[in-house]
Order: sequence, then C-alpha cells, then structure tokens
Amino acid sequence: KDIDMTQNPNAQTQAWQQLDAAHHLHPFTDNGALNAKGSRVISHADGVYIHTPEGDAILDGMAGLWCVNMGYGRTELVQAATEQLNTLPYYNLFFQCTHPPATELAAQLTSLLPDHLNRVFFTGSGSECNDTVVRMVRHYWASQGQPKRKAIISRHNAYHGSTMAGASLGGMKPMHAQGGLPIPDIHHIDQPYHFGEGQGMDANEFGLERARQLEAKILELGPENVAAFIGEPVQGAGGVIIPPETYWPEVQRICRQYDILLISDEVICGFGRLGHWLGCEHFGVKPDLVCMAKGITSGYVPLGAVAVGDRVAQGLLDNGGDFNHGFTYSGHPVACAVASANLKLMADEKVLERINEHTAPYLQRRWAELADHPLVGEARGLGMVAALELVADKASGKRFDENVGAGTVCRDFCIESGLVMRAVGDTMIISPPLIITEAEIDELIARARRSLDLTWQKLVG
Ligand code: PMP
Repeated sequence: KDIDMTQNPNAQTQAWQQLDAAHHLHPFTDNGALNAKGSRVISHADGVYIHTPEGDAILDGMAGLWCVNMGYGRTELVQAATEQLNTLPYYNLFFQCTHPPATELAAQLTSLLPDHLNRVFFTGSGSECNDTVVRMVRHYWASQGQPKRKAIISRHNAYHGSTMAGASLGGMKPMHAQGGLPIPDIHHIDQPYHFGEGQGMDANEFGLERARQLEAKILELGPENVAAFIGEPVQGAGGVIIPPETYWPEVQRICRQYDILLISDEVICGFGRLGHWLGCEHFGVKPDLVCMAKGITSGYVPLGAVAVGDRVAQGLLDNGGDFNHGFTYSGHPVACAVASANLKLMADEKVLERINEHTAPYLQRRWAELADHPLVGEARGLGMVAALELVADKASGKRFDENVGAGTVCRDFCIESGLVMRAVGDTMIISPPLIITEAEIDELIARARRSLDLTWQKLVG
C-alpha cells in the first residue's frame, strides 16, 4: 500500500516495524519482547556510519558484526560483485570442477598467510568453517590410523558459531541449554580472562595457569583420544578477552608435546583486526588449521575459508580419500570475487601499515583515557578491538548486581548518543571499521564518554 508520508514522516519506518513484528524471527533475540518494542530499522550506510530511514547517523563501533572492516559504500567491492554476477553468478566446486574466482582467491589468500598454510577449503560462514574443522581433524586422524583421536578441547565462554558443531565448540552455556548441546567429544577448559577470573593474580602467572588446564584435560582424556584444541586468539563475542602474553605460547608448547592439532578461529581476529593478517601472528603461534570469515569480504557477501596447514593437507592428500563434506555455497564465485577485491583494496590502501603505525595506537591511547571514569574498572584493547569493564566500585572492581543490567543501560545510552557499542554482560566492547579516521575515533570516544556519564547518573546518581 502507498504510505502517506505527509501525515506521518515515520510512517514508512513504522510499516517496516509492523511487517518485521508480523513475519520475521530475529537471531539471538527474544522476539516476543522485541515485537512489543519495535525493531530499529537501519536503511543505509556510508563509511563508518549506519543510518536510520529518518537520517540519524550512528557511528558503527562494531563494524556491523565485527565484519565491515573496509567500511560501508566501497564501490570497488560492489563492482567486483557486479562483474562476477554478470560473468558466472554461480557454479559449484563439487564433481571435479573449479572456477577462476575460487582458485585465484585460494592462491591470493595463501600468499598472505604464514608459510605453512598453503591450502584452503571454502565455506559460506564462520560457523560452517568450525563444522568443517571438526569433521576434517577427525577424518585426518582416522586417515592416519588413529581413529580414536576424536576429542576436541575448547574454552568456556568461547564463541565458534551457531551451527550444532560451532555452538558445541563454543562455550556459551545459554546456547548449550537449547537443542541438546554440546555434541559428543567436545570438552571445555577455563578461559584466560584475567579481569573476570584472575583478579589478585599476576596476569602472566594466570595465563600460564589457564594454559596448563589444557595439559590437565589432555591427560585426563588420554592424549591418544584428543584430536585438537581450538581457540580465538582474542575471544570476541565473549567480551574482547585478551589473554596474557604467556598464554598462547604455552598452549602451543602443550599441543606440540602431545601431538594435538591447534586450530585458530580467526573469524574476528583475522584480516587486520589485531594488526596482522591473522591474530595468531601477534601471539607468535603457528596453528595447523585456521578458520576465517567476516573480514574476508568486509561482510559485503557471506564467505568462510578454512586454511589447512601442510601437515594435515598432506595427510589428507596421501591417505584421506574422499572428504565427504561441502556446501552448495562453498567458494561461491561472487563471494570469492568480492573477497579478492577486498584483499586487493586492503593492500592498495596499506591498511595493515596504517593500523599499526597510526590508527590502532591512536585508538588505544584515546580508549585508555576512559579508564579514569568512575564506572570503569578496566579499559583494555589490542589492535582494533577494545573493551571496558563496568563496575559499581572502582577500587575493589566489584560488579553491579546482575539485575541492574549496567551493560544494557550503557548500550542503550550509546545508541541514544549515536554510537553502536556492544554489551556482553557488563563488558562494553568495540570493533570499529579498520578505516576509521582519527577524527572519527575522537567522536567515538566522546560518545562513549557521554554514555558512561549518563549510565553513571542513572545507576549511581
Ligand atoms: N567464530 C567466531 C570467533 C565468531 O566470532 C563467529 C561469529 N561472531 C563465528 C565463528 C561464527 O561465524 P558466522 O556467524 O559467520 O557463522
């Protein structure tokens, strides 16, 4: 129906909200509660800003869902998609076929990654990457005559996706509670979350202690039954949890000692987020398998990729036979073309150099200033991610009562102040587009501080 905008300028937005409430179920949402309130309509975007239909500009401090790394409105990516849609909009990689965008992207990707990662298996998303690695590492061990090696060790409060295997690898209790998860042979150890779980302990000691839980778990299960360990270099959805420097090297030592494969979930940390092509490079770790998605296309179209190290790839080539796994949209040509254009754009604009030399140090310096706020128990960050811990008592680090919902209060004030900042419990997190300018960082910090002030006024007075 035609909508009379002269009578009510918000009529179009309200119409979308009504359709949304009537017909759409949102991910990770209490849809009943949302319908009563009305969803926020985002209609267009440009640079680091998302816009409502009414024209409000909101600084996207989360780059969508940690993915729009090169910002909105990049014509280079639109053009790559358009050309590919015109040339070959779809073909599959099954039945002994390939196509130029997938082969070229596989070669381009492996040239950027550490030397031992020379092969790529494409998927449609981060979750599908994690389902792929579960099946691939178990198949690998079986093909090497060790079929008992099935167990995969992960961490509590990890996020590895929403499919059955992805959510099982993840350590999110509310996800496990729905749908009978985890699937068999997935085990979890504690996370290296110093502010939340290691207060009073030296951070590096704490890092070692948490890494050594891996050794204890391997010994409990029997090394001959363990296939792999999986972790995000920095836990993203869990609350931007940056492990102490001692953590990853010790995890790697333990994996090597017991011959356990190491999987790095780089869905967030890859493609420049921590200042490297892969986040594990920051921590000096050499994983056997790597999961990538999100920033690979800057989120413009869905794509995932599992990089497979020489050891596993060679084992599968020599003894694996058929790998009975794959998706209709594994290596979708349009997605691969956009990913190639995105990687080229990152190189042309020297994004990694710019982040390491200018943007990340500036962001982290300005972010650290928020530590003086009475609500903030810790301000931390690395590369282009950062977090604030909201506390009721700065001196002791004591949290607000859970039912106060301090994080949610702060998040809502952020939106009111024109900033997308996400709340994970009472941890506020950001992951802005990598192309954010210093002036835009100043604006982000000003809006964050204003939101902290409003939260303080509301909760403390
Ligand atoms: N792994 C990590 C580390 C993630 O952050 C996410 C998504 N936030 C996923 C996997 C799942 O990716 P997707 O939503 O594309 O399936």
